[in-house]
Amino acid sequence: MKLLEVKNVKKYFPVQKGFIEQLITKEKEYVKAVDDVSFDIIKGEVLGLAGESGSGKTTMGRLCVRLIDPTEGSINFDGKDIAALTGDELRRIRQKVQFTFQDPSSSLNPRLSIGDAISDALKFQDIGTPEERKDATIEVLEKVGLSPAYTFYDRRPHQLSGGQKQRVVFGRAIILNPEFVVTDEPVAMVDVSIKAQLLELMLDLKRDLDLTYLFISHDLATARHVCDRIAIMYLGKLIEIADRNQIYEDPLHPYTEGLMSAIPVPDPKIRKTEKIPRGEIPSPINPPSGCRFHPRCPKAFDRCSVEEPLLKDAENGRHVACHLYGN
Ligand code: SF4
Repeated sequence: MKLLEVKNVKKYFPVQKGFIEQLITKEKEYVKAVDDVSFDIIKGEVLGLAGESGSGKTTMGRLCVRLIDPTEGSINFDGKDIAALTGDELRRIRQKVQFTFQDPSSSLNPRLSIGDAISDALKFQDIGTPEERKDATIEVLEKVGLSPAYTFYDRRPHQLSGGQKQRVVFGRAIILNPEFVVTDEPVAMVDVSIKAQLLELMLDLKRDLDLTYLFISHDLATARHVCDRIAIMYLGKLIEIADRNQIYEDPLHPYTEGLMSAIPVPDPKIRKTEKIPRGEIPSPINPPSGCRFHPRCPKAFDRCSVEEPLLKDAENGRHVACHLYGN
């Protein structure tokens, strides 16, 4: 069953120009952070969203929980377009969808105690009495592994380690009993030794609370351990989406192939041929014509620079946007 349906979503940010620049060029310019993206998230799955920085993955994640509004397109959650909701309906949906930011240190208010940081979400939604909110927060602290909970309740963020702060961030995300959580690089800021514990916590919460995740990560080695399917973005476009094993073992899109070839392997006897794309990711203000990947693609041919490839069914539920497939 589909929990979230993203349909033809665009998010363009206007480029801020200086006074002189405005006089020279009157035309408005836009950063096309997300440009006509469509995909579904199935209830109960972990969908990974990966790509280089500047691919639009974080913007896409923010759109999915209505932290920002789309320029065009619809995002249906439980059959309702969240981009069109206002007032009480929007407030109700905010309980069901949550977002965890990449850097737990900057997403926690240094002046708020851990208990208040978590229970404030209940207060904003006008749920429970102060005592009930405290009880619910203590329960959540235990659930995210900050135990004994009462010893953490009155602490400030600076008194916690990076891993503990990330647990608080998860706690804040689940206090409203959501159905869907977008988690942006949840383990990017912690030591390797803590990473596995946090990923395990994430999956435990998914099982216990029946959650669905959009897991945003540039780290494909980590995504492989937690995701059921992986979607790859490049310069504002979704270029491939497939089951975890398909995409890691047999990537179709040349860009996905490049990303997969760069994943380090623990066994030094295994030698991989790296197919890392040449050059830098181009500007999202004036993206290349046709296939946006064509200036960097080792398999590009004439058609690629003039015609944009659409995301097409490439059998077994996988989809790819490349002229080499689906014709
Ligand atoms: Fe490469 Fe062409 Fe496929 Fe784009 S459409 S990925 S340029 S082969």
